[in-house]
Amino acid sequence: MASDCIFCKISTGEIPATIRYEDDQLIAFEDIDPQAPHHLLIVPRKHIRTTLDLTTADNQLIGHIYQVAGKLAHDLGFAEDGFRVVNNCNEGGGQAVWHIHFHLLGGRDMTWPPG
Ligand code: C5P
Repeated sequence: MASDCIFCKISTGEIPATIRYEDDQLIAFEDIDPQAPHHLLIVPRKHIRTTLDLTTADNQLIGHIYQVAGKLAHDLGFAEDGFRVVNNCNEGGGQAVWHIHFHLLGGRDMTWPPG
């Protein structure tokens, strides 16, 4: 837990969010500025700053995040039409919140390459 981290505060309930799934390892909630008809953020409860800060101790966690992404896409009804999981790393990669998170986007056709 980092005291000045907005996603840590959402994880503890200190800041409200529209939560779609949670367990002991992570929380998934609606992005406040959705970029697709479905746009969730999957956020580990553990404060990890960026992808570059992951260690082998986090391997199970990352696998779990992708499993939850698939389950959410299925449960929310957009798995079969296709979806995207995105992790932005560092400013040049589009990261704005310094607590690792995975965007789950669905409900529209995705373009390639991403911007
Ligand atoms: O990958 P990046 O760091 O740019 O993504 C941060 C995301 O967090 C943005 O999509 C933003 O809309 C979202 N956000 C949110 N709730 C907050 C603050 C940011 O959903 N309270």
